[in-house]
Amino acid sequence: MSEISKQQPQDLALLGGPRLFDHPKPVSNLPKPDWQRFVGHLKPAFDAGLLGSGALVQKLEARLAEFHSVQHCVAFNSGFWALAAVMRTLRLSDRNEVVMPSLTYRRMADIAGWAGLQPRFCEVDPVRMTNTAEQVAPCVNAQTALIMGVHPIHGLADVNGLTALAQRDGIPLVFDSVESVYETHEGRRIGGFGDAEVFSLGASKLINGFEGGYVTTDNPRHAERLRAILRSPDQTPAAPGFNARLSDVHAVMALAGLEEIDAQIARNRLRYEAYRRGLAGLAGIRLLAFDESSRPGYKNIIAEVMAEWPLSRDRTVEVLNAEMVLARAYYPQPLHTRPMGYPYVPCQLPVTEDMARRYLLLPCGELVSERDIAQICEFLRFVRQHADALQRPLHAPEKETA
Ligand SMILES: *Cc1c(COP(=O)(O)O)cnc(C)c1O
Repeated sequence: MSEISKQQPQDLALLGGPRLFDHPKPVSNLPKPDWQRFVGHLKPAFDAGLLGSGALVQKLEARLAEFHSVQHCVAFNSGFWALAAVMRTLRLSDRNEVVMPSLTYRRMADIAGWAGLQPRFCEVDPVRMTNTAEQVAPCVNAQTALIMGVHPIHGLADVNGLTALAQRDGIPLVFDSVESVYETHEGRRIGGFGDAEVFSLGASKLINGFEGGYVTTDNPRHAERLRAILRSPDQTPAAPGFNARLSDVHAVMALAGLEEIDAQIARNRLRYEAYRRGLAGLAGIRLLAFDESSRPGYKNIIAEVMAEWPLSRDRTVEVLNAEMVLARAYYPQPLHTRPMGYPYVPCQLPVTEDMARRYLLLPCGELVSERDIAQICEFLRFVRQHADALQRPLHAPEKETA
C-alpha cells in the first residue's frame, strides 16, 4: 500500500504540486515532559518562594552529576557559555591556540574567540565524522592551550585516543558532549572523560530546559573555578567572570525531562527503526546505523547521499523542504570556510569539505511520527523514480555551499 498520493512528477511540491505535509516536520527534537510532572516540580518551589534562589538549579546539578556518574556538575544558561567558561578556565594560560574540528557546531569558533583563543581547525576522520587523535596530533604545537574533542552527531568521539594524546603532551582536554548525553563509552556513561565535558539543555537537545547547559567533571578544582566565573567579581575568579547562571524555571523543565529520558529514548528508537524499514534497499541513500554497544540515544537520523543517488545532497534538501520535510544539510558550512572577525589559523581541509557535501539530517524527534517517517521514506523512493524531472530545470549550476 502506498503511503503517499503522489503519482507523477508534477505532484512534487517543488514543481507546483501539493505539499506532502501541512505542518513542518523538523529535525529538532523539542521533547516536552508530562505537564503534571513539570508542574509537580514547579508549584512547590513557586509556593515556597524558591524560584530565583538557585535551589532548583542545585537540585538539577546533583541529579545530572548522578546521571553522568561524576563528582561535579555546574549549570550554565546555555551550552555556548558553558563551553566559553570551560575554555577560559581550563586553557593553559601562556598559550593561545585551541585545536578543534571544523566540521562541528557552527558557533564553536565564536566561543574560542570569547575565550581569547585562536582556533586551529583539524581534519576529521571520515568514518567517525569527528576529530580523532590522528587528526589532532599534527595540530598540537608549542602554542596549544587546549584540545576540544567533539562527540559527533552520530556515534562517539575518540575518547581513548584523545585522552592518551592530551596526557602525553600535558594539554587540557575538553569534550563537547552535547550530542552524546545518553551514550556510554566502555560501559561508563559519557560525562567523566577528559578534564571536563560540556552539555546543552537547549530545546532541540535530548534534555530540554528551554535553554541551558552544564559542565561535568571529576576534578574539584575545575568545578570550583567554573563556579567562580559565575560569582560576583569581588570573589576573584580565575578569569574575568560573567553572569551565565541557569534560572530555576529552566532547571525545573530539565529536571522533569531528565526523569523521562528513558521513555524518550524508547520513542526515538521506534522512529529510527521506522527509517530503517522505510529506507531499506533504497539505492543511494545510506542510513547511518547506531552502534548498539554504546547505548545510543537514537536522536539524530543521518543519511549519506551516495554517488548513485540521482540528485546532489543540496538539491535533495531543496526537494524535501518544498514538501515541508525540513531535512537539513549536515554541517553545510565547515567553520574554516566561514568569515571570522577574529584571529584563527587558516587551513585547507579537503576531507572536511568533502564530508560537508554528503550528509543529510532527516526529520526526527517528538514532532515526527512513525507514519510521517513511512511517508518521508516512500517520498524518497518517488523522488528516485522521478529524478529526471528534477534534473531538467536544473541547468543552472547548483548553489555552492561554501
Ligand atoms: C547545540 C550545541 C551546542 C550549543 O548549545 P546551546 O545550549 O545551544 O548554546 C554546542 N555544541 C553542539 C555540538 C551543539 O549541538
